[in-house]
Amino acid sequence: MPSSDKDKKRIMVTGGAGFLGSHLVDRLLDDGHDVMCVDNMFTGSRRNIAHLRDHPGFEFIRHDISQPLHVEADQIYNLACPASPVHYQFDPVQTTKTSVLGAINTLGLAKRLRCRILQASTSEVYGDPEVHPQPESYPGRVNPIGPRSCYDEGKRCAETLFFDYRRQHGLPIKVARIFNTYGPRMHPNDGRVVSNFVVQALEGRPITIYGDGSQTRSFCYVSDLIDGLVRLMEAPDETTGPINLGNPAEMTIADLAKLIVEMAGSPSSIEFAPLPEDDPRQRQPDIRLAKERLDWQPRVGLEDGLASTIDYFRALRA
Ligand code: NAD
Ligand code: UDP
Ligand code: UDP
Repeated sequence: MPSSDKDKKRIMVTGGAGFLGSHLVDRLLDDGHDVMCVDNMFTGSRRNIAHLRDHPGFEFIRHDISQPLHVEADQIYNLACPASPVHYQFDPVQTTKTSVLGAINTLGLAKRLRCRILQASTSEVYGDPEVHPQPESYPGRVNPIGPRSCYDEGKRCAETLFFDYRRQHGLPIKVARIFNTYGPRMHPNDGRVVSNFVVQALEGRPITIYGDGSQTRSFCYVSDLIDGLVRLMEAPDETTGPINLGNPAEMTIADLAKLIVEMAGSPSSIEFAPLPEDDPRQRQPDIRLAKERLDWQPRVGLEDGLASTIDYFRALRA
C-alpha cells in the first residue's frame, strides 16, 4: 500500500491483458496505485482483466504500441509483445515492430514525462548459449535470420534503445531479462511448454515432446517474477539492469513432461515431434545480480506452482 496519496502513482502497463501483464496489473492495484492497461488484444484476453472492470483504479486502453500514444503516467512497464514462439512467429514483421517501434514510442512517452520505464526483455537475448548458466555479462549467441529472430533481435534492439535513451537523454530505465515463467492465465493454446503439457495431460491426449526432451529450461512461477519486476522498478535509478529474473531450478523437458502427467493424474502417453529450428539446448539464469541488488530470489517451488497452474486449467475446462 502507498503510505500516503503522495506515494500513489498512475502506472501504465503495456501488454496488461496478457499473462504476465494481468498479474502485474493486479499487484499494482493491490499496492494502491492507479493502473492504465494498454493492449491491442493480439494474445491478451478479456478474461484476464474481467475481474477489474469495476475497479475504480483500473483503466483499459485498446491500442497497438507500434503506434504513438499520448497519455500521462508516473511509471511505465513495457510488456507488450507476444511471448510464445507460435504467436510471435505468426506475424514476424509485426513482432519486430512491436518490440522496436513499441520501445521507441514508450521511450518517447517516458522522455516527455521524465518518468521511469521498465522493459520486459528476455533470456532469448542470449540465444542458444554456450555459457551456462547465463550471467548478464554474456552477450549471447543469436541467429539474426532464423524463425526466432523477429523476437530475439527485436528484444535485443529494444534493449539497445533503452540504454541509448539513458545515455542520450538521461532517462531512468530498467531492463529485466525474464526467463521461462508459467502460471495461471497462460493462454491455453499459446504453444508454450507448460500450458501445452498441462492441457494435453488434462485432456488425456499425448504429451508432445519436441526433439528427444533432453533440452533444458528453468521455470519460474508468475508471482515470484512479478515481485522481481516491481522490486526492479522501485530500486534506485543506478540499478538499471539488465538483470536476470528467473528460477535457477533447471530441468529437462522430458522430466517436466513426466512430472506434469503424474501431478495431473493423467493417462497421457508421450509422443516425440521434431525439434524446432534454433531451439536453445539449455537455459538457466544466473541470478546473483538480482539477489544482490534487489534482495530477490524465487520462493515458489515447481510442484506448488504446477499445482496452481493445473488447477487453473482444470477450472477453465469445467
Ligand atoms: P502474452 O502474450 O500473454 O502477453 C503479451 C501481451 O501483449 C498480450 O496481452 C498482447 O495482446 C499484448 N500485445 C502484443 N502486441 C502488442 C502491441 N503491438 N500493442 C499492444 N499490446 C500488444 O505474453 P507474456 O508471457 O505475458 O509476456 C509478457 C512480456 O514478458 C513480453 O514482452 C514477453 O516478451 C516477456 N517475457 C515473457 C516470458 C514468459 O516466460 N512468460 C519470458 C521472457 C520474456
Ligand atoms: N511519442 C509518443 N508519445 C509521447 C511522446 C512521444 O508516442 O508522448 C513517440 C513519438 O511519436 C516518437 C517516439 O515516441 O515517434 C520517440 O519520441 P522522441 O521524442 O524520442 O523522438 P522524436 O519525436 O524526436 O522522433
Ligand atoms: N516444447 C516441447 N513441447 C511442446 C512445447 C514446447 O517439447 O509442446 C519444448 C520447446 O521445444 C523448448 C521448450 O519446450 O525446447 C520450451 O518451449 P517454450 O515454447 O515454452 O519456450 P522457449 O523455447 O521460448 O523457452
